[in-house]
Amino acid sequence: MYNSGDKPEKGTYQCANCGHKIELKSDSEELPKCPVCGNSKFKKAE
Ligand SMILES: [Zn+2]
Repeated sequence: MYNSGDKPEKGTYQCANCGHKIELKSDSEELPKCPVCGNSKFKKAE
C-alpha cells in the first residue's frame, strides 16, 4: 500500500477506496490525494 506524499516510482496507482487511477510520470513525483474521493491510500495498478 502507498500513501499520499510517497514517491514510489513512476507508474500507475489505483485508489484503494474508489479505484480511480493516477499516473506518475517520474520517480520524483508525489502521490496526491485521490481527486475523486479524497482518500490517501493507493495500490499499484497492474
Ligand atoms: Zn478515490
